[in-house]
Amino acid sequence: MKAKFLVTALAACLFLLNLCLSPPVYGGRIDLIVDHGVDKDAEAQARATVDGVFDFFQRTYGIGLHKDIRIKLSCDKINYKNAIMTEYGSSEARAAFQANHSVGLQSGGILIVDLGDRSSRHGKLFTLCHEIVHFYQSQESGDKNYDVRWITEGAADAVASHIMETIGGQSAGSYKKQWIENLKRAQNLPRLEYLHSPNQMRSYGAYNNGALAVLTLVEWRGYPALFTYFRALRNASPEDAFYQAFGARLSDFEKSFRPF
Ligand SMILES: [Zn+2]
Repeated sequence: MKAKFLVTALAACLFLLNLCLSPPVYGGRIDLIVDHGVDKDAEAQARATVDGVFDFFQRTYGIGLHKDIRIKLSCDKINYKNAIMTEYGSSEARAAFQANHSVGLQSGGILIVDLGDRSSRHGKLFTLCHEIVHFYQSQESGDKNYDVRWITEGAADAVASHIMETIGGQSAGSYKKQWIENLKRAQNLPRLEYLHSPNQMRSYGAYNNGALAVLTLVEWRGYPALFTYFRALRNASPEDAFYQAFGARLSDFEKSFRPF
C-alpha cells in the first residue's frame, strides 16, 4: 500500500516537473477569420501559407507562437476598411486612409490582409507571409522592432520570398531579380541610413533595397542570425543588436551596402 502511494507520488512529481520544464512551444492560439466573399481556393491557399510560415519559424528558429494571433482575411477594399475599424478601433477617415495605402496590416497580434485586392494570388499570399513575419518580430523583440525600418520591412519581404518558394510559389531568386530590376529604374537609389522611419520607407524602392540588404546579411550569417537580431532588440539598442547578430557595425553596413 505504502509502495503504491510512493509510486503514485513519484509519478505526480515527475509529471509536475515535466510541466514546469517543457517550453510552451505553441502557447498562443490562432484565430483565422475569413470573409464570406473570399473564394474557397484562395482560402485553402491562405491556410496552407499560414501553416508554412509557422513551420518555417519552428524549424529555422525553434520559435513557436507565444501570443494569440488573430488573422482576418477580407475579400475587398470596403471589407478591409471595415475590418480596420472594428479590429483596431480606428476612425472611418483613418481606416479609409490605411485601406487605400496598404493591403495588409499587423498590430497588437491582430493581422488584417485584403485577399481581394491584388490581381495575382501569390501577391496576396506574399503579403500574408510578410505580415506574419512582423508578428514574430514583435513577439521576439517585445515590440521593439520598428526603430530601423529597412531591417524590419526588408526581413519581412526576404523571409516571405523564401517561404513562398517553400510552399510552391514563385522562386526566391525571381523575387530578388524583380527587386533589382525595380531599383535599376530608380532615379536615386534609396540609401539604408535614410530608411529608418515609416515616412522614409515611402520613397521609391525603399522596401526592395531593404530586402536586398537583408538577403546580403542572410548570405553572410544565414537565416538564424536574422532573429538573433530581433531577439536582441528586447534588451539592446539596434546598433548593439546588429553587432551581436551580424558581427558588423550597423552604420558601416548602411554606408557600404549597394544593392547591385
Ligand atoms: Zn511591413
